[in-house]
Amino acid sequence: MLRSSLSSTPRSRTAFVGLLLVGALALSGVLAWQVVDAGRSHEAVAHTAVKEQALFAAWEFGNNARRLIWDKLTRPGLDVVAGLGGKSADGELCYPQQDEDWGSWPAGPEAAGAFFRLELSTGELSLAGPEDPGLEKWVREAFSLEEAILLGYGWDPVLADPDDGEGWIAYRTFPEGEIPERVFGFRLLPAGLDIALGYAFEDPDLLPEALTEGRDNGLLFSVAVRDRNHQVLWHTPTAYSSGFVATDTMGSRFAGLETVLTVNPKMAESLTIGGFPASRLPMATGLLLLTGGLVAAAFYQLRREAELSRLRADFVSGVSHELRTPLAQIRMFAETLQLGRVRNEAERDRSLAIIVNESQRLTHQVENVLLYSRAERDALKVSREILDLGCLVNEVAEAFEPLARKARCGLRVETTPGLEARVDGALVRQVLLNLLDNATKYGPAGQTIELGAGRAPGGRIVLWVEDEGPGIPPDQRDRIWDPYYRLEVHRASAVAGSGIGLSVVRRVVEALDGTVRVESAEHGGARFVLELPAARGAESGRRGGAVTPTAVQRTAPDPAEEPRTPAARTSGTRPAEA
Ligand code: ADP
Repeated sequence: MLRSSLSSTPRSRTAFVGLLLVGALALSGVLAWQVVDAGRSHEAVAHTAVKEQALFAAWEFGNNARRLIWDKLTRPGLDVVAGLGGKSADGELCYPQQDEDWGSWPAGPEAAGAFFRLELSTGELSLAGPEDPGLEKWVREAFSLEEAILLGYGWDPVLADPDDGEGWIAYRTFPEGEIPERVFGFRLLPAGLDIALGYAFEDPDLLPEALTEGRDNGLLFSVAVRDRNHQVLWHTPTAYSSGFVATDTMGSRFAGLETVLTVNPKMAESLTIGGFPASRLPMATGLLLLTGGLVAAAFYQLRREAELSRLRADFVSGVSHELRTPLAQIRMFAETLQLGRVRNEAERDRSLAIIVNESQRLTHQVENVLLYSRAERDALKVSREILDLGCLVNEVAEAFEPLARKARCGLRVETTPGLEARVDGALVRQVLLNLLDNATKYGPAGQTIELGAGRAPGGRIVLWVEDEGPGIPPDQRDRIWDPYYRLEVHRASAVAGSGIGLSVVRRVVEALDGTVRVESAEHGGARFVLELPAARGAESGRRGGAVTPTAVQRTAPDPAEEPRTPAARTSGTRPAEA
């Protein structure tokens, strides 16, 4: 088990963790969906409850309306008509002339239009009151003796709608409960219906008190009454508009009148116990987004880790390569000397020089790795002393000269006198050697590398290394300082490198309170520029004084030197040179 977990590759581990993360995201997606779905069905139940309340209220209103139409309009009106000759075939049908003729029906003058009486056996129609041709026409068409006999007890409806827009017709047959002899009734005017419906709406019991909490019906809902052609005949003063609408019919006995009740959207919530559930969508979306964000962050970390482990692997192979090449050179030339294979003194000196150069190079590489590891542990030791950086640059140039020559590179040095700074000489030397090493590695054979030291505006000291190579693309200039980072083009090439040289440069320069940057050289190469603070006294002493820079061409590119193959560029010297 342990063996298998140790042997699993980082790639398969990453894939496994990635899969887990995707699974977690999918799971939280499903959970979020379920929460939203549950919220929705809870909401649907609450909405249905409100709709049912609305239906109940509409039905209750219809009941009220029917009762009131019968009690306050139809029945008293028909009594008045009956009393004024409607019931008797002998007497004349009269229309009330005085208030007292309306008897106990105070709404009469407002509600009643013309009266009628129809003798079914003779078809004799008597009319009284205001002229009403619509009534006359309708009565003649609506009732016949044949139909009365067919129906047995006459016609059921109490309120009919002649569809002439003038109102309704209330009627009764006589005698009741037998085959009728006559029909009498009156025209019910719209104003009369308004009164009855108004009362019907005022009933406080349209919904249970527990729900309405004593609030006015008008605040809870609006009602419209329509005829069977959906023409609105009456409505409450306020008309609400919401999704909670209920429709109920008063039935054919009441001319098919229809109640449409609409709940006030602002009050709908109060009509269901517990109110509407709060929407869970924002919370679920928020949680999902949060999970998505966390998963994305975890993926980012995974990717970084994968990249880091790849960079480390590159680093290990790069360092090994960089160390192995000078070691091979040293060993080969040492063996040549040991076995006495050198032909003359000059060859012996050359072999020894190569051994010295390569061991210096080796020391430089090892020093770099040590510096890097110290910098990573924040344990970089800096011992400062006042040094003339111009002299230091010349020293570095001198030390580097043989390597530059071997790489067929020219070296031009430009310095200004009196560049004193409080620095750690060994560290600055290492930094400059790193930059010079890169210049030879990545620049073309035959180029001239420039190493310089001068004074920057503001009194700081500036050191630079410039080559004639391909330079650093602007979008990579921030990244090359990262540990193990190498340009794609070099990663794929045979130029050995570990990717820590520039990160050492930056960490060292920062430890010396300086800055470092890379820019494009005049002819397209890379120009690395270091700025370091000048030593205090030296800086103030020099400021304003004219100082002449001196430029020295230390090494010219040597065309006789062997052409540089990528392997030769890192190895420095090849056995063939011995
Ligand atoms: P390396 O050991 O790979 O040279 P460095 O940290 O010194 O590591 O450099 C990082 C990367 O920056 C190099 O691999 C190379 O791609 C790029 N680089 C550094 N110096 C130069 C230069 N003078 N010209 C072009 N590319 C360079």
